[in-house]
Amino acid sequence: MKHLLIPLLLSSLLCTAQQKQIAITIDDAPIMALPESYTPAQLKATNEKLLQKITALHTPVSIFINAANCITPERLQLLKQWVNNPLITLGSHTLNHSNCADLSIDSFKMEVMINDYIIRSVAKGKPVPYFRFPYNAMGKDSMAQALRLEYLKGKNYTAVPFTIESDDYMYETLYQDALKKKDKEKAKEVATAYIKYTLHCFTYFEQLTKELFGRDISQIYLCHVNQLNTDYYGELMKALQGRGYQFVSLEKAMQDKAYTTPVYYHQQYGFSWLFRWIPETDKRKQYLRNSPEPDIYNAYEALKAKK
Ligand SMILES: [Zn+2]
Repeated sequence: MKHLLIPLLLSSLLCTAQQKQIAITIDDAPIMALPESYTPAQLKATNEKLLQKITALHTPVSIFINAANCITPERLQLLKQWVNNPLITLGSHTLNHSNCADLSIDSFKMEVMINDYIIRSVAKGKPVPYFRFPYNAMGKDSMAQALRLEYLKGKNYTAVPFTIESDDYMYETLYQDALKKKDKEKAKEVATAYIKYTLHCFTYFEQLTKELFGRDISQIYLCHVNQLNTDYYGELMKALQGRGYQFVSLEKAMQDKAYTTPVYYHQQYGFSWLFRWIPETDKRKQYLRNSPEPDIYNAYEALKAKK
């Protein structure tokens, strides 16, 4: 009997050591919010390479789809590749990536309904259990948010929060600029800064999590389909593994009791749920003031102004 107990004890100890869990969520699949900067070949390569890396690393991923961006045959084909991958869970992200805080409830319902219809026609029976609000803007006030959440519930959607993100779209903009100028060194520099900043965000939000909950919780990471994430997906996942993370499905992550915490913030800004779970407004504002900011922010703004 004794020899049976030892492996059991060991495995339970290992399980305790592996409590840090993370669900990877990727928005704007299969096409990012800046489609004009991508050639069709680049878009295809970005999607296919990202899917290959997800498959090779065996990381469960949930994607959030804007069907209005998928209606050409080529893009529908890309969406089908995501749908057909067993590691991928499907979510809706509205038809047009609209800011739902600016929409009437009827327009919001149309955005959800038409998106739902198109995704399900491609998904062919694969479940679409999740919904993420574009810009994480759930509505302009608590009443508007409650109405939208109630509607989603009626459609069997779970509205999905996130806890950690790292402004990948800003780094991606600079990365594309460097690649277009064939400045490989600059592209590498941007990518290195992106990984460094992302890990810095993890340190900040892990600390905030411990202050709020007194423990680690299952984290939900948000990023986007883009070339930067694709090229550095392996590196980032390896770094997260090195921090003790185990990759889990969104369903598993959301089983953490932390996700039943009431939300106390009811405006439209799209920050982490870790801030929204802070009851005291002053305390929340203080944490927000001290939250990480990308060091490339000025360079990003300058580049955007030039376009
Ligand atoms: Zn989005």
